[in-house]
Amino acid sequence: MTLKLDSLRALDEIYKALDDNILQAALSRASYNNQVKVTEILASRPEIASLAIEVREIKRRSIMKLEELIDQAISSLKAAKANPYYASSVEDARSIIGRIVGSNKLVILSKSMAAAELDLRSYLESQGNEVWETDLGEFLIQLEGVKPMHTIAPAVHMTREKALILLKGKLKIDVKEDTIESIANTAREFLRSKIIRADIGITGANALAADTGTIVTVENESNIRLVSSIPPVTIAIVPIDKIVPTLLDAVKVAIIQAAYAGLYPPTYINIVTGPSSTADIEQTRVYGAQGPKELHVILLDNGRLNAKSNPLLGEQLYCIRCGRCSFECPVWVHTANYWGGPVYGGPMGIIWTAITIDPIEAGKLAYLCLQCGRCDESCPVGIRLSYILRYLKTIAISGSMSKL
Ligand code: SF4
Repeated sequence: MTLKLDSLRALDEIYKALDDNILQAALSRASYNNQVKVTEILASRPEIASLAIEVREIKRRSIMKLEELIDQAISSLKAAKANPYYASSVEDARSIIGRIVGSNKLVILSKSMAAAELDLRSYLESQGNEVWETDLGEFLIQLEGVKPMHTIAPAVHMTREKALILLKGKLKIDVKEDTIESIANTAREFLRSKIIRADIGITGANALAADTGTIVTVENESNIRLVSSIPPVTIAIVPIDKIVPTLLDAVKVAIIQAAYAGLYPPTYINIVTGPSSTADIEQTRVYGAQGPKELHVILLDNGRLNAKSNPLLGEQLYCIRCGRCSFECPVWVHTANYWGGPVYGGPMGIIWTAITIDPIEAGKLAYLCLQCGRCDESCPVGIRLSYILRYLKTIAISGSMSKL
């Protein structure tokens, strides 16, 4: 069963969000803090803005020859002893991952919007597995049972009081003090006990280098490096729009994503090419040293190749998921990801929902866009989000994808 968007139900949620004073205060604080941080980074590091222009060009060239890069990435992944799979739909991806994971396994996830596209946690749980999110924000919203409220800050709406209630109520864990440090430490202890015993680790990717088959991820919590290195079997879900020609290109994408998310320098950039191995005995290479023995890479299409053929929707494939446009958007700052589909929200989220789920329902939600253009100005890779949103409005009216 694929995820669906019901625009009328989404409107109900938006009205509730507008009446939630705690949410409104949290969104206003998060948006302000992101704007201040990014402004400081760009003022003190002028090379970042130049690198963002370079990344736009990398993405433009990558999307132009996407089919060729997919083939090259598959060959490179095989050469690196990883197992690549092409999944054209949500159902394909779930069935591939379901076969790899099986049942009665302990599965750990790192924050991944691609995994959310697959509603993977619920799917794996329905197959009899125990599944835990390891990013603190994702872990808290797993306990709360809601969707991520921002691409890079999924628990942007979470207060310490709410986090305490969730840990005590849902996990029956005693949190020593009523402080954020104590909450983070309690979550860390709980998740470490799962990470160390996990059978399978599943990550997303910030970029995949076609020339080497290398997966690049950027983070500050260090959970991605644990998820991708501790379990004996790991899986990376890579939306095909994240494939770029070279490893250097992939690292540049990760740096720009972090900087425009307000995290520069990033704490960690992880570079993974194939499973762990050693050739220390008789110069004979064997796989499975201290890290995973198996690495499976799912290249997820789910509407992306189709979007590529549309001159406006295709531009969204440049997106590096920094979340900058949401923090800048005067609508998102009052609605969070309640304005959006079941996975993505905000200006970029409406468009990603159109690509991956339903352009007509997403187009109805695009009518909340004020066309102020602040998203266009803030996007590091120069996506004309407001133009695409206007186009989606016409799709909602006509009831079908029109030619431009
Ligand atoms: S559309 Fe642009 S600003 Fe928004 S998340 Fe994507 S890259 Fe970032």
